[in-house]
Amino acid sequence: MPELPEVETTRRGIAAHLEGHRITRAILRRRDLRWPIPAAIERELPGRRIEMVDRRAKYLLLGTVAGSALLHLGMSGSLRVIDAATPAGKHDHYDLEIDDGRALRFNDPRRFGCLLWQPAGDVHPLLAGLGPEPLSADFDGDHLWRLSRGRRAAVKGVVMDQAVVVGVGNIYASEALFAAGIHPARAAGRVSRERYARLAAAAKVILAHAIERGGTTLRDFLRPDGAPGYFEQELMVYGRAGQPCRHCGAPIRARMLGQRNTFFCPHCQH
Ligand SMILES: [Zn+2]
Repeated sequence: MPELPEVETTRRGIAAHLEGHRITRAILRRRDLRWPIPAAIERELPGRRIEMVDRRAKYLLLGTVAGSALLHLGMSGSLRVIDAATPAGKHDHYDLEIDDGRALRFNDPRRFGCLLWQPAGDVHPLLAGLGPEPLSADFDGDHLWRLSRGRRAAVKGVVMDQAVVVGVGNIYASEALFAAGIHPARAAGRVSRERYARLAAAAKVILAHAIERGGTTLRDFLRPDGAPGYFEQELMVYGRAGQPCRHCGAPIRARMLGQRNTFFCPHCQH
């Protein structure tokens, strides 16, 4: 599943091709994505200039003066900028054609992605109630500490809660908790302010690094499988059950926590 770094890499890749261009046509081959594509897409987008390509959590926003197209890659989606005349494949569900003969094409075998409309001045319900961006100044240790007071839920679940902070997925949560020395199952309310400061700082470093690597190692912006393969060699705990901890040599353990596979070092994390 594309995680925040892959979505940000996609944003940077498509922004360079789309910003400043006018959308000439929306070709919708299948409307039944995760949610049906609304009629507003064909009504509002053609003729509009894409002012900016933004990202909020794992949503991409193509901003025009009338509002924004809200795109999500789902589990298996990818976006490419292609020559508009390129024949569409089986899973190419929509194209947004632009004024230079090219098109933004969405491919998604599993159809968990979406294309929705957010009128100017509105916040789409999917974006309402989201926590801060992890790389923004609004996200820090004090933010985590304040929101976790009195909470007995596992700290890993709290950092993965989109209402607390967006975009810290399973891999990044496991890695950040290891970097901060915090056991993933520890009650969130029992983690100190100092340790939350370390956790927030670690999450920022890991995500920023992944984005940077995504931007430099991906060929163009096409990433068909969405898997963070470029990041694999550097993982400290994720996917390493039974292998020695890179710090202390103890075997890395795996367990299910909140229905997610969770990896940690029993010696380094407490
Ligand atoms: Zn260890």
